Amino acid sequence: MYCRNCAKQLDDRAIACVGCGLPPLAGKKYCQNCGHETGEVAAVCLACGVALGKGGVGQPAGADKRLAAGILAILLGALGFHKFFLGYKKEGMIMLLVTVLTAGVGAFVMWPIGVAEGVIYLTKSDEDFVETYVRNKKGWF
Ligand SMILES: [Zn+2]
Ligand SMILES: [Zn+2]
Repeated sequence: MYCRNCAKQLDDRAIACVGCGLPPLAGKKYCQNCGHETGEVAAVCLACGVALGKGGVGQPAGADKRLAAGILAILLGALGFHKFFLGYKKEGMIMLLVTVLTAGVGAFVMWPIGVAEGVIYLTKSDEDFVETYVRNKKGWF
């Protein structure tokens, strides 16, 4: 992610720019995705095509992971892919190993967990999702 005010490259979870101190999406001058200059009123970056983030009223950082994590959890939950995707290496490894080491039998246990987690991700609000899974790193459910 780039600061929308000064184009400094930031961690995706950063809540304030280390270059200028503003929330990363508070500015209007640069694309948060590619750092290209944008017009003050532009809604979409002309260089990379993403919707430009808006400070305060837009999605919180990390909310863009909610949909993908939910879909991964439902389709590939038994393999723990959604855990790896959210940065939970230990939990992902547990799900992956249980499924693989039991030659798929463990998937009957792990998959319903993945589906349940996927449904939870998808039904949570962006703010809730980010608060629980991106900031607090809640490993299970
Ligand atoms: Zn900045
Ligand atoms: Zn861009």
